[in-house]
Parts: sequence; C-alpha cells; structure tokens
Amino acid sequence: MNILFMGPPGAGKGTQAERIVAEFGIPHISTGDAFRLAMKEGTPLGQKAKEYVDKGLLVPDEVTNGIVRDRISQDDCKNGFLLDGFPRTLAQAEALDAMLAEMGRQIDHVINLKVDRSFLLTRLTGRRICKECGTTYHIVFNPPKVPGVCDKDGGELYQRSDDTEEKVGTRLDEYTSKTAPLLDYYAGKGLLREVNGEKEIDAVTADIASLLRG
Ligand code: ADP
Ligand code: ADP
Repeated sequence: MNILFMGPPGAGKGTQAERIVAEFGIPHISTGDAFRLAMKEGTPLGQKAKEYVDKGLLVPDEVTNGIVRDRISQDDCKNGFLLDGFPRTLAQAEALDAMLAEMGRQIDHVINLKVDRSFLLTRLTGRRICKECGTTYHIVFNPPKVPGVCDKDGGELYQRSDDTEEKVGTRLDEYTSKTAPLLDYYAGKGLLREVNGEKEIDAVTADIASLLRG
C-alpha cells in the first residue's frame, strides 16, 4: 500500500504516520526528517537544505525529488510506504508519478489532514521532539510523563528551530501558495481522502486506519 499524507505544517502528519506505519508494517518516509538528519550530519545535502529549511522555505524540487527516488527504490519499500510531507509542489507530484510509473507502481491513498490555520501556531510552537528517537510530543496536547524527557527512551526533548512564530508564518504561506493546490491534483485523480485532523490524536488515528482498511 503506497500512501501519501498531506496537510499544513502542524496538521499531525508525523504523529499519525508513526502510528499508522506501526499498524500497517510499512516504512515512514519524511522528507523533513531526512533534511534534519542531513543537516545534523553536515553532509552536502544538509548544507544545501539548511539554506531553505532555516528560513521556512521549501527546498528546491530537484534536491527533494532525488531523496525520495533513492528511498522508495529500497527493498523495504517493496510492499508499500507512507510518504509524509512529500510531494509539496506540483512538480514534485509529477516527478513522483513518473518514478512510480517506472517501477510499475501507483499511489493508493492520499490522506489530507484538515486542520484550520487557527490551530497550527499553538501546535507548532508547543511541539517537542526526542533527540534520540524522533518521537513527537506537545507540551499541552500530548505531553511526556516527565517534562522534557522522552517516555520511550529517556532521550532529551528539543524544539525545532523552525517552530518559532516567525518561521511558522513563512511555512504556512509556502503551504498555501505551493502545496494546497496539490489537493485539486489528487482530487482530480479520485485519490483524495479528507480526515478531520482537529479531533484528538487517537480519534484521528482511528479515522485514518478505517479509511485505509477500506
Ligand atoms: P506535522 O508533521 O503535520 O507538521 P506533527 O505530527 O508534528 O505535525 O504535529 C504537530 C504538533 O501538534 C505536535 O506537537 C503534536 O504532538 C501535536 N498534535 C498532533 N496531532 C494533534 C491533535 N490531533 N490534537 C492536538 N495536538 C496534536
Ligand atoms: P512540517 O510538516 O512541520 O512543515 P517537515 O518536517 O515536513 O515540517 O518539513 C520541515 C522543512 O523541511 C520544510 O519547512 C521545508 O523547508 C523542508 N521540506 C520538507 N519536505 C519538503 C518537500 N517535500 N519539499 C521541499 N521542502 C521540504
């Protein structure tokens, strides 16, 4: 099963992806996570991505498409994958269609997490992530048992440098101008499924899982 998760920054894509891949046994591919790892390691990819990620802007398509092509060609993606945060432009969506066509594969479901813009700033500025395992928390909506410490492995929680009020504004503008138009693209192909992402985390997971089970 090849699945895409769409939705604005803070909609809950990463949170839901962690849970859905655990249930469906497919890899979670997040281009945002791939960029953050490359930036932490200081690779050439990371240095290139940093120029854009730090400003809240989208990384150019040719850089982003290459990462996805390499990742979905790997063996563990043979039975499916969940792409979170890709595609984010029409050119990326077209490149993905071409890659999949070459492999004789296709997208099965596009899940759009619908969340009003008024929710997103609070979600993003309160987001905290484990340095060790990447699990996502929220200081109010999904807090760890001990503040600042991951429930799973005791790792320290950190705040992403682009989760500030100023960068969130730029990221939401990028979403509105470049990514939101993709919803029509997938609706036109009959693939788009809308999920109310404003419900509680467990309720959203249940709604997505039931859509995927068909
Ligand atoms: P995205 O990957 O779409 O940017 P995340 O999954 O990282 O979003 O979620 C953004 C923040 O909102 C995180 O701190 C997360 O814990 C919190 N969150 C996710 N889903 C919900 C929800 N349904 N209700 C309240 N908070 C949520
Ligand atoms: P969120 O879902 O909270 O916006 P991500 O972790 O998905 O955050 O992305 C963080 C940043 O990584 C984006 O603001 C952008 O700079 C870069 N990025 C991630 N995915 C893409 C993509 N598909 N195309 C271009 N840039 C991307």
